[in-house]
Amino acid sequence: MNTSSLVAESVWKDIDSTHSVTDDQLSILHFIFAKNFERATRIVDQRGVKRISGVPSGRSIFQVVGESRRKEEYLCFAEHYCACYSFFYDIVNRGEQLSCKHQLAARLASSIGACIDVEVSDEELALLLSNL
Ligand SMILES: [Zn+2]
Repeated sequence: MNTSSLVAESVWKDIDSTHSVTDDQLSILHFIFAKNFERATRIVDQRGVKRISGVPSGRSIFQVVGESRRKEEYLCFAEHYCACYSFFYDIVNRGEQLSCKHQLAARLASSIGACIDVEVSDEELALLLSNL
């Protein structure tokens, strides 16, 4: 892991433990993730993050709205994967960013308790995952 990731990780952990975010923490995350973090906060503000949990397993995945007017939603894991184009181009291919805005929105919303929680059966969750 590079330094930025380590710093971000420790900030996320602090936010997780208090369920609230300070101005200093916002500045650090903004410094690390720049425009993507701004976009992520807008997504969280508009309640655009759903956490879909399978019952009874408790396994979960996030579904995050896009920013453009088209009503897209992307399935993502906050730390490791997003189904959007930016994830493949900017993060996996070019390695220019650490996370896309959907992953950041998922991480932020879950840390401060701003997700919309949705429960589905494990079969439905499996079906969602099989379409990734
Ligand atoms: Zn994404």
